[in-house]
Amino acid sequence: MKIPCPHCGERDVAEFRYGSDATKTRPVHGKGTQKIWHDYVFLFENPKGPHEEYWHHVLGCRQWFKLKRNTATNEILGGEQ
Ligand SMILES: [Zn+2]
Repeated sequence: MKIPCPHCGERDVAEFRYGSDATKTRPVHGKGTQKIWHDYVFLFENPKGPHEEYWHHVLGCRQWFKLKRNTATNEILGGEQ
């Protein structure tokens, strides 16, 4: 699989590390119950199909970016910084 880094261009997936789900909203710092923070940190969906994710170009520019990917086919649907 090839991933288009917004800074370096298209590179092999071996240079990247999956970060997390980019659709989750972080709770406000200092607010919220333990359950809200627990769910934010530890519970994840496992969507099949188009999904927005954070990726880290670990063996390249070391920048984080968002990537839209179809999790069923690994088709890259778009990205942004
Ligand atoms: Zn890069």
